[in-house]
Amino acid sequence: MTVAARDRRPTHRAGSAASSTVQPGASQAIVLAVIAAGAIATIALWWQDTAAIHDFGDWLTNAGRVTGLLAGYGVVVLLALMARIPALERGIGSDRLARWHAHGGRYIVSLVVAHGLLIIWGYAVTAHTNVVSQTGALLTNYPDVLMASVAGLLLVGVGIVSARAARRRMRYETWYYLHLYTYLAVALAFSHQFATGADFMTNRIARVVWSALYIGVAVAIVWYRITVPVWQAVRHQMRVVAVYPEAPGVASIVISGQHLDELQAQSGQFFRWRFLTRDLWWSSNPYSLSAAPRPDWLRITVKDFGEQSSALARLRPGTRVFAEGPYGAMTAIRRRRRKVLLIAGGIGITPLRALFETLPGGKRDITMIYRAGDNADTVFRDELIAIAHRRGAQLHIVTGHRSELGFDPLSKEALMANIPDLRSHDVYVCGPDRMTETVVAALREANVPRRQIHHESFEF
Ligand SMILES: Cc1cc2nc3c(=O)[nH]c(=O)nc-3n(C[C@H](O)[C@H](O)[C@H](O)COP(=O)(O)OP(=O)(O)OC[C@H]3O[C@@H](n4cnc5c(N)ncnc54)[C@H](O)[C@@H]3O)c2cc1C
Repeated sequence: MTVAARDRRPTHRAGSAASSTVQPGASQAIVLAVIAAGAIATIALWWQDTAAIHDFGDWLTNAGRVTGLLAGYGVVVLLALMARIPALERGIGSDRLARWHAHGGRYIVSLVVAHGLLIIWGYAVTAHTNVVSQTGALLTNYPDVLMASVAGLLLVGVGIVSARAARRRMRYETWYYLHLYTYLAVALAFSHQFATGADFMTNRIARVVWSALYIGVAVAIVWYRITVPVWQAVRHQMRVVAVYPEAPGVASIVISGQHLDELQAQSGQFFRWRFLTRDLWWSSNPYSLSAAPRPDWLRITVKDFGEQSSALARLRPGTRVFAEGPYGAMTAIRRRRRKVLLIAGGIGITPLRALFETLPGGKRDITMIYRAGDNADTVFRDELIAIAHRRGAQLHIVTGHRSELGFDPLSKEALMANIPDLRSHDVYVCGPDRMTETVVAALREANVPRRQIHHESFEF
């Protein structure tokens, strides 16, 4: 990094990093238990309304009812996971929420398809007719079923474009905007549940609870995904103040704003950034804070992976910025042990650089291992050395390929040789997904408890 570039950066104010008064978020186990309890209550709703099952048609229809109820419950859970509810974002982490959403989505689409097929088949068997004429009868004679069928097709379509093979061939934004059809699907399918769902037609309490679930999630989505970001944009008036290169293809962007301390952002967290230029206003991309947040400015550091990230190096000072966040669970709150090891790979250094600066700890409590391709790729070298020096922390910057080094510096053996009391460390890992997987496996082999390993993926 050149001295001139550093001179353009706003001066750090010692001790002005955002306070760590943010409460820990929801725990994974509790959230999963609540989701499971909801699923059990949904099955119980079907059970208490089902006196007896007599024949094959009845079996099919009841299987159709229960899959429909579970799909109706599951889809609203999937939306809640993506509602950007702060307790979930802080406690579970956006990447894990996105993974749960993606896994759950596959089951929900399967339940929707099963519901449709089982109901048609069951009704056809009971009415002694064939499935084609039964499908016609359901679409024309039953209230709101046509709308629900369109909703089902939309959900299947969203499922198809979200399949890994299809998604890889698609621009992120195309996939994202197609994905928003899920909201339309949920709205279209809602009314048929009460109009034709045997479990709701006669059960007023079930209707009230079900409606409250849907309305609650809709309010959370509108509040956290629209109202709060718009309010934040007005309140904080963020603008780009400086852009400078850190390494080939990597640039830092400093963003100023008002009352930024109110955001209670923490080192290790990220925002979704929207830069209001003619070409970029429509895309909102996640980038971690690469320095501890200050009351009057924030900094991100971006590698040129694609269209939006490459364009950021050309941003002009004065550009207005919408930032949605802070999000992310890889913060100091997660820490359990006094000693901390930070393992960064490539551009995954950004959140760990901020944590390296601010994690509380005495001399030699904090160690960082930063794995970079070569010297030219190494970002923040001077800053990291300065932080390590100031804090008495240990810093290992390891460059070069494994074949050149003759060993893997992130293997269990190398980690234990470097840090003999590895097991008594909390370990924060951020880097390419493949590297993170290998490092987490090495740490587990070295008997580092799972609860002491914290990592976040740069891929949703
Ligand atoms: C929590 C988090 C923190 C991150 N922090 C940093 C950071 O500090 N520095 C850095 O250089 N990179 C970071 N990234 C990665 C960065 O967001 C992507 O490289 C960037 O969005 C790519 O966008 P693009 O248009 O340039 O490339 P594209 O070619 O459009 O996308 C490349 C890939 O990036 C991902 N991506 C693209 N757009 C989005 C989006 N809007 N939301 C989520 N993922 C998207 C997708 O997986 C996509 O396949 C982070 C990612 C996440 C999830």
